[in-house]
Amino acid sequence: MKLADSNTTAAREKQMRDAEELLFTGAQKLGLAKGLFLGRFVADWVMPYPTIRPDEQRELDDALARLRSFLDQHLDPAAIDRQADIPRNVIDGLARLGVFGMTAPKEVGGSGMSQMAYCKVMEEIGSRCASTSIFVNVQHSIGMRALLLFGTEEQKRRWLPPLVSGEKLAAFALTEPEAGSDAANVQTTARPSADGAHFILNGEKRYITSGAIAQVLTVMARTPLGAPASGRPPAGGTSALPGETAVTAFLVTPDMPGFTVVEPRMEKLGIRGTATARLAFRDMPVPKENILGAPGKGLKVALTVLDFGRTTFGACCTGAAKTCLRLAVQHANTRRQFGKTLGEFELIKKKIARMAAGAYAMEAMTTVTASLIDRGLEDYMLETAMLKVFSTEALWMLVNESFQVHGGAAYFTDKPLERMLRDARINQIGEGANEVLTSFIALVGMRAPGEQFREMLEALQYPWGALRKVWLLGLDRVGAAVLAPEVPVRSPQVKPYAERLGEFVRRFNVEVDRALIKYREDILDRQYVQERFARAAMELFASACVLSRWDAELQADDSNSAADGVSSSPAELFIRGSFRRARRSLAEMHENDDTTTTAVADAVLKSGGSV
Ligand SMILES: Cc1cc2nc3c(=O)[nH]c(=O)nc-3n(C[C@H](O)[C@H](O)[C@H](O)COP(=O)(O)OP(=O)(O)OC[C@H]3O[C@@H](n4cnc5c(N)ncnc54)[C@H](O)[C@@H]3O)c2cc1C
Repeated sequence: MKLADSNTTAAREKQMRDAEELLFTGAQKLGLAKGLFLGRFVADWVMPYPTIRPDEQRELDDALARLRSFLDQHLDPAAIDRQADIPRNVIDGLARLGVFGMTAPKEVGGSGMSQMAYCKVMEEIGSRCASTSIFVNVQHSIGMRALLLFGTEEQKRRWLPPLVSGEKLAAFALTEPEAGSDAANVQTTARPSADGAHFILNGEKRYITSGAIAQVLTVMARTPLGAPASGRPPAGGTSALPGETAVTAFLVTPDMPGFTVVEPRMEKLGIRGTATARLAFRDMPVPKENILGAPGKGLKVALTVLDFGRTTFGACCTGAAKTCLRLAVQHANTRRQFGKTLGEFELIKKKIARMAAGAYAMEAMTTVTASLIDRGLEDYMLETAMLKVFSTEALWMLVNESFQVHGGAAYFTDKPLERMLRDARINQIGEGANEVLTSFIALVGMRAPGEQFREMLEALQYPWGALRKVWLLGLDRVGAAVLAPEVPVRSPQVKPYAERLGEFVRRFNVEVDRALIKYREDILDRQYVQERFARAAMELFASACVLSRWDAELQADDSNSAADGVSSSPAELFIRGSFRRARRSLAEMHENDDTTTTAVADAVLKSGGSV
């Protein structure tokens, strides 16, 4: 083997080891999204449509009423955008309303609310001002989340109360010049001090929301592998190779010597009210007690924290999407051209209906995903990644369509749409670029069926010991491939769609199995194929959520029945389109332009961009 090949293989093996450690922590309950890749429909996670407990709903209604009244009086999104700052009175007001500690436990001053209820709060803020919703998301969903999830009792008691009360602001610092999408490539180092009391941090962070205004930052830095929390080498040595390092999460405060704000507020396109910072750490001592979670497990901390961020991202996008729809409807109903209101033209109706279907689906997916967290599903990373990609793309479509319905009127700063368009662009990049998450969805989803194939192949090499296992695995695969899973719904209008969804799940699984047999390990590099599976899986997940919500609404309200005519439910429109998109993704497995696409891209990349 050539040196370059062996280096590539070693790098690939290291990536696989990292991924295994990060993503898979042993036997867990099968989730909805992972089930789809196995040809199963784990209905319990999505049906019946999740609802908030009545006592919590009352609490939430009160909280929302107070929040709306405060936002009506004090939140001026246009001024926040113009002045590129969220005024302190807004931050303090949100803090007083308990927004920063809604899901934190009561012992540290929080409200102990569910993720579903919190998503409703974030939807409300997101419907008004993206700067404010992202600021709150950073404070609550990622800034203090690592502490909530991985902090020791002592750390929680010490650090959480001032963050929950809003007395202190939080930030989450992962991104660096060399570690963007490739988050594992963190270059900031943290070496143990000679006396073992501290870790000495050196490095740079960039694009950190609230980085220069926060008093508590969760910072990812690279520590020597096996470096104990004491900083001293362990008595019995470690299993790590000399020089091996891993990422560790630290709690950092700006008063630490060497903490440097390089740029407090980077000038930017949208969400201008947020303060996005560049930071540097120069020989900055951080007490060893400030390690969050296990040393060397910082990427696991980061990934888990981002799962929460992505869920509330879905809620914020849903809020913004509803505003886009409302603005488009107002304009379409009032603006007249050619002697008609815009809403009378079919091409505008098409936009309005598509926007309504998209917003409906975003809300349904957010609700279901949040409920998975509340109900204790251990692994919801696929669902949160799907929600993030789906809702950020859907919002981009909605902003664009609402903009188009407004024509020239949207282009000027007296209307909110030009700001909303600028604000919405970050969503497809932040908290995991959508391309990276698309690939992640496919590869994590295909892991379980891939594992079964691997076990089957291994077992076939040692048939005497494992015949029974081959038989059982084979049965499982065949069973999934032949039978469409049941999608249990109650309303007659929904049943035909439920049957089609079950059939799609079966077909999806057949295609996944085929691709695994065809590409084997090469699937890791086949992003065109990965994208098709990720897109089909997202459509199936979205359709399941929408179907569940629609079914619940029909059950609650007989008058919504379509028995006497064409359904006016955005749910039905969404599901019909979603099935078509899923079918197209699967069909493109067999008929596509992949070879030509690569050839054109390679030629253009080589030519420096000329066509
Ligand atoms: C306004 C703003 C606020 C932010 N706030 C924070 C924060 O609070 N904390 C924090 O840690 N970070 C923050 N970020 C950083 C953000 O998470 C990163 O920008 C994001 O992860 C992408 O990294 P990158 O910008 O370096 O892009 P790159 O990694 O350079 O990627 C550029 C593009 O390449 C493509 N790409 C990359 N890798 C792949 C791949 N494997 N396959 C296919 N395509 C790929 C994607 O299309 C991507 O958009 C913020 C960023 C912005 C702009």
